[in-house]
Amino acid sequence: MAVFARAPGLPRVAWARGVEVVDTDGRRYLDASGGAVVVGVGHGVEEVVEAAAAQARRVAYVHGTAFGSDVLEEYAAELAPLLPLDDPAVYPVSGGSEAVETALKMARAYHLARGEDRWVVVGREHSYHGNSRGALDVSGRAALRAPYLPWLGPAVHTSTPQEYRCGFDTHPHGCGLRHAERLEQTIADAGPERVAAFVAEPVAGAGLAACVPPEDYWPAVVEVCRRHGVLVVADEVMTGFGRTGRWFASEHFGMRPDLLTAGKGAASGYWPLGLAVASGEVHETIGDGGLVHGFTYSHHAVGAATGLAVLRRLRDHGLVGAAEERGAQLAGLLRERLGDHPWVGDVRGAGLLVGVELVEDRGSRTPFPRSRRVTEQLLAAAKELGLLLYPAAGCADGSRGDAVLLGPPLVISAAEVEQVVERLVAALDVLADRLRAAGPG
Ligand code: PMP
Repeated sequence: MAVFARAPGLPRVAWARGVEVVDTDGRRYLDASGGAVVVGVGHGVEEVVEAAAAQARRVAYVHGTAFGSDVLEEYAAELAPLLPLDDPAVYPVSGGSEAVETALKMARAYHLARGEDRWVVVGREHSYHGNSRGALDVSGRAALRAPYLPWLGPAVHTSTPQEYRCGFDTHPHGCGLRHAERLEQTIADAGPERVAAFVAEPVAGAGLAACVPPEDYWPAVVEVCRRHGVLVVADEVMTGFGRTGRWFASEHFGMRPDLLTAGKGAASGYWPLGLAVASGEVHETIGDGGLVHGFTYSHHAVGAATGLAVLRRLRDHGLVGAAEERGAQLAGLLRERLGDHPWVGDVRGAGLLVGVELVEDRGSRTPFPRSRRVTEQLLAAAKELGLLLYPAAGCADGSRGDAVLLGPPLVISAAEVEQVVERLVAALDVLADRLRAAGPG
């Protein structure tokens, strides 16, 4: 039987250790994106593998409505003080999209429990929150939504801060407040009594290539939501578990969301683990039995054991601080080496979530025509040179330029950071040759 492959002509992976991935032909790659910005603790960490195996040996599966488990209680207890929510309650699932779906249902359930029939969710333009229908509806990326539009709704979308392409003429002063006004208008248009939640990434990941909002953005946005009884959902699927140099990116802004979603780094790719987390108030209002919801693989004991081992590894090896330090080195080196590059418009990010935006004309910030497929070509050139990158805005969203994301395992060394930058510079040279050879697009 054929495999429904995600891309044609893929090399086959053999093994991986630390920041390095090796294919079956013996080619070695520096994993500068941690897969899809997933692998935090590094590849091949024996103690994580052992924790998962030991739990599977004890008991791999029972249904979550039949048994709880000590390991899940232990995981929740160690995770709680690290989360930016008061008295949090966690609902473990199998990935980011499931986490977002769960958070959306929690928001609806919370309002219903309070006697309010709210169902509209506000997302942001250019955002990505998952591929299942509810999560996709909240996502703003037009190209991902396009084939499924008849299935989408009733989410609405508001503006999102993007410093490099700020649409406000007040830029750089007070843009956060202008976006908060837009959000308030969006809520007013939808009917405030119907709006259940506002979903956004504290630092925009794949949709906008590591775009950090201005400082005045989150406090103003949270204030608008609270005033209208709208729950704040921080999607930390990409930014959580140390990626941005804090346990959770909400911390950069002193933000306390009502709901939070995580995935990716939670189990570092060793197990498909996602988390929907509710504040104590949301949890108590819904009640344990009040959520009409569930997945066969939610509350999985092996997932909890894996997540616990990853959490301890991040904590005990100081990897959150390392992400801040190595991230500053990576962004600094990229700016140093590519600051004058004619196509590098912007280098941005937080911790080890770094975005590089490519433009045809730096002065006017004009993107390349999408038909030139610059992101895809850069990814291919980098891979040939043994460097794995992740595509960001531009790859799927036809209208909006090209960008790549760097999100290596947080264990990356200073020397490996230098190698990543060397290879990226070389890949841009290869790209330049190819674009010139292809002629004007
Ligand atoms: N939210 C965000 C912010 C994401 O980056 C992603 C995945 N890229 C998701 C949700 C969906 O996660 P998953 O692919 O694990 O379903």
